[in-house]
Formats: sequence, C-alpha cells, structure tokens
Amino acid sequence: MPASPTPQDWPPLPPIRTGIRGRCPRCGEGRLFDGFLTLRDHCDRCGLDYGYADPADGPAFFVICFGCVPAVIFTLWIELHFDPPLWVHLVTSLPFLLLTCILPLRPLKGWLICSQYFFKAGEGRLAADEKDGR
Ligand SMILES: [Zn+2]
Repeated sequence: MPASPTPQDWPPLPPIRTGIRGRCPRCGEGRLFDGFLTLRDHCDRCGLDYGYADPADGPAFFVICFGCVPAVIFTLWIELHFDPPLWVHLVTSLPFLLLTCILPLRPLKGWLICSQYFFKAGEGRLAADEKDGR
C-alpha cells in the first residue's frame, strides 16, 4: 500500500500559473471547476479537498474595479465621438461590457483559490487557540 503523499511530494506551484488555467493548486493537473464557476469538491487527480476554498466576492471585486474600466472607456468614447442612438450601444457597448466582466471571473476565481492554498490563507485565529490545539 503506497504511503500517503507528503508536502515534499507536491512542490509549490505558482498560483498565477495554476489558477488562471483552472488547475489544482497542489498537483497542477486536476480540474478546479465543474462548469464555469462551480468549484469541485476535490481534485480528480490528487484528491485535494477544496473545502478550504472561499474566494467570496474577490473575483467580482477585481472585475468591478479593473475589468469594467475598458468597457466604460469604450462606451464613453462611442458616445462622445459619434453620439449614436441607443441601439448602437446595445450592439456594441453591451456585448463588450459583458465580455470584459464575465470572461475574467473564472481565471480570477482560480487565481484567488490557488493563492489561498499557496499562502495557506484562512480565517484568523488567536495564538492562544493554536497553542491549545483548537
Ligand atoms: Zn490535484
């Protein structure tokens, strides 16, 4: 019976490399997602439990702060230069807005989850709790 894997069996993988590709942060081969944004329960290759993963609103925050900037600039540029009717925005600005807001969500979520694993991020605990083993 093979021994259970040790941390030495899994060299640290850069979260940017594994997360953007939607791969397991430990082995780099298993899939992280089941669908577009739904997280799997565990890695299908190494068995890593993804229960620790909680990116919360992180991906949406980054999209709101940075991803939508090109869409707003593009929309304003069209409006100010061409003063088009509303239907032009519906066929140009709206699809561009959806692309710049939806497409980055998955790689950002993967990157945040892999960063959580890489940096061992978790909820804060008091030092006294750790000494007591709680
Ligand atoms: Zn894995």
